[in-house]
Amino acid sequence: MHTSQHLLSAVIEKSLKVPTLTWSLTPWPSPAYIDLPRPLSAAEVAQVQDEANLYVFEGRRVYVEVDELHAGQTGIDSGDSESASSRELGRGLPSDYVGGVHRVVTIDGVDRTPCCGTHLPSLASLQLFLFPVPPSSSSGPSRHYFVAGPRLLNHLGSVQSLLMRTTAVLSCGPPELPDRVAIVVEESKRREKRIDDLEHELASVVGVQLAEEMAQWCASGGEGEWVKFVSRTDDSPSAQPFLQAIALTFAAHLSGQSDSTGRYTLLLASSPSSQTSSSTTVVMVFGDEDKRVKAIGEELKRQFKTLKGGGKGVRWSGKFVGVWLADREGRMASSLTSTPSTSSLKFAAVRVLSYMFYSPCPLLQLVCPYTFCFRFIECHIYVYE
Ligand SMILES: [Zn+2]
Repeated sequence: MHTSQHLLSAVIEKSLKVPTLTWSLTPWPSPAYIDLPRPLSAAEVAQVQDEANLYVFEGRRVYVEVDELHAGQTGIDSGDSESASSRELGRGLPSDYVGGVHRVVTIDGVDRTPCCGTHLPSLASLQLFLFPVPPSSSSGPSRHYFVAGPRLLNHLGSVQSLLMRTTAVLSCGPPELPDRVAIVVEESKRREKRIDDLEHELASVVGVQLAEEMAQWCASGGEGEWVKFVSRTDDSPSAQPFLQAIALTFAAHLSGQSDSTGRYTLLLASSPSSQTSSSTTVVMVFGDEDKRVKAIGEELKRQFKTLKGGGKGVRWSGKFVGVWLADREGRMASSLTSTPSTSSLKFAAVRVLSYMFYSPCPLLQLVCPYTFCFRFIECHIYVYE
């Protein structure tokens, strides 16, 4: 790769008058790179590559010349050289370098560069590929990657493997790949937009239904606070905005009604269809009074150790990690909203009943696998509270 870098830098400097600022050979099998003061155009990349490969096909010799620096001879600092090419003799040798040897690596008829590195004796096996620069690159210093020799073959192999995997997924040949990918991306965008529209529509329907349910409750003599728990099963990655949209539609519809002074608390939960111990359920509390919403949110966090959340004003939302069952966690959460002055003991009782009916308990399985007993219930109250 070092010999290829000499060749590439020399061709770019001679043909385009663009000097190499820095370079790195990088570990196998990554592409090596040179940094240039500006990005090369696609035509320049093609021109440089053709010229470099011409020298490769000619099998130009590479050899090392070593001169002893005689008394009085010194190096020349980079940038001070008066020679035709800054890559010629003197570059890279500091001016206080006295005595010793001066080693120059020469690619026959192409380049002479001071260098102490290891090189191949010929360019014959160093076919070179210079990566095109992305069109979005800025006009400033730009990195240009390249591969040569064995790295080029390795690169071809890995690119071919990626191509085959992708064409197999999309059931097409390599030439059709760009068009097929464009179609898939376009379809995906359209689908996402349609899902957004449908979610918006559904949230409106649910919000309006809830507002009408509350209105009916008020009309039929309901007094005090209207409380409602809605538990949804939804595999959407964005359940929170959806629940929020329901709450907003509900509030908007409510404020549009003539009698919108009723008190209310909405508890919304959205869980994935298949749950594990790492599943996330989004919980949202929405009400007409800041303090009440905040108190319920804090109580929810106290009752569910894996629930984290917070809120502002009349909205509180959180994320519960674990398995959330509407008949177990949902029932417990719901009992919080429906009983303003609930004691911890009541929660404990609800929790015990929930565990008894809906989940196998490790204690139960150990002590009495087939029967329930009151002592066991007492034990649960003690353990869980
Ligand atoms: Zn070198």
